[in-house]
Amino acid sequence: MANRDLFISVDEALARILKSIAPLEPIEVDLGKARGLVISEDVASPVDVPEFDNSAYDGYAVRAADIDSARIDAPVPLHVVGEIPAGPTGTVEVGPGTAARIMTGAPIPPGADAVLPFEATDGVHWAQRIVGTDALVHVVEPTMIGSNIRRRGGDVRTNDVIAPMGTVVDAAHIGVLASVGITQLRVHPRARVAVLPTGDEIVEIDGSLQPGQIRNSNAWGLTALIEHYGATPHRLPIARDTEDSLRETLRHGDGSDLIVTIGGVSMGDHDLVRNVIAAEGHIDFWQINMKPGKPLAFGTVNGTPVVGLPGNPVSSMVGFELFIRPTLLKMMGHTQINSPTVRARAVQEMRSSDGKRTFIRVNIYRSGCDFVCMPAGSQDSFRLTSMTAGNGLAIVAEGTIIQKGEFVTVMALNERELLLLDGGR
Ligand code: AMP
Ligand code: MG
Repeated sequence: MANRDLFISVDEALARILKSIAPLEPIEVDLGKARGLVISEDVASPVDVPEFDNSAYDGYAVRAADIDSARIDAPVPLHVVGEIPAGPTGTVEVGPGTAARIMTGAPIPPGADAVLPFEATDGVHWAQRIVGTDALVHVVEPTMIGSNIRRRGGDVRTNDVIAPMGTVVDAAHIGVLASVGITQLRVHPRARVAVLPTGDEIVEIDGSLQPGQIRNSNAWGLTALIEHYGATPHRLPIARDTEDSLRETLRHGDGSDLIVTIGGVSMGDHDLVRNVIAAEGHIDFWQINMKPGKPLAFGTVNGTPVVGLPGNPVSSMVGFELFIRPTLLKMMGHTQINSPTVRARAVQEMRSSDGKRTFIRVNIYRSGCDFVCMPAGSQDSFRLTSMTAGNGLAIVAEGTIIQKGEFVTVMALNERELLLLDGGR
């Protein structure tokens, strides 16, 4: 093909996009809003955890030396001088020959150096809250100093880093941060992504179709993907196939971190997106040596990066996975930005199309210790249904053939499902 020289490779396209993208300026957010966001600086604990020595069991706070000789047939009696619930600290002190009933999480009283669970006593008092000068507990086994005491700082010490920079905040981090009283976090914000559909034939999904018109399905699929990766989508009105309409609609994308246009980047008479980006800003490239998704443009308008996805539903989703997913993840501070891949055995031959890197929608299964992959029906790029059927994209390198039974690298389209694949299918 004559214009092959204008193509750049998938790898070069991605490298060029990522080179021009920096992580977004960190912001402060409430802890409750931080799930899924990436921490932009090390977070150190302002306190020790636990903040005070406390009991690991319901039982008795004792002095270990008092009960060295305790045996089942030679119990040691201790006077129960008080009880200590979790919560407010009391005035109970444990002197020689005494014990205090203590509940899990309650502060260790002065004088005590170990906790005996109820099970290590004679059992008579387990269920009875008898306290006072006459109350005795009989201890039937010895213990060591420090046993069953959760020490102050035993989990986290003041100034320990509990969430390093780059942490993707999950529920467990939120729990730890909450336990040390951190209510605000510095994180990279969610990327704001404007989605700009284009085309004279495209109508909103709740509109009535005139002959020749189709619904704006891509904008909906793409906004769902954008949300899936933690960014915030904003659907713009559908631009008509005129330079004026495109230019005007592009302006609605001002203030976004990324603009994604849909359609109008191919070789057709009405494919004007490229011209408008070039006129308003700058085009870096617009053709990639891949299938599907060859016409994919990248540039900037008013300093905002713009990715022009092809209009075909499958091409646009493949373009998203390959280029927009890592772009958004990088903007939001992630360091793991590549899609996970597996090596899977091809159940049938797969060919690169026309010397291009070819992405074949497949279903990945587990078979014994291996993964196998099978093309998910017809590969026509207008057929979105093969996308819903497939859970991976097999990557057939430029100009190569994967023979039946050979291994091929497959990008997972649904990471969680990949982990759950079982041998039974
Ligand atoms: P284009 O790249 O503009 O030539 O579009 C290629 C194909 O994708 C055409 O069949 C379009 O009708 C279709 N298409 C473009 N934009 C959308 C959209 N937002 N939703 C669904 N299909 C679209
Ligand atoms: Mg179009």
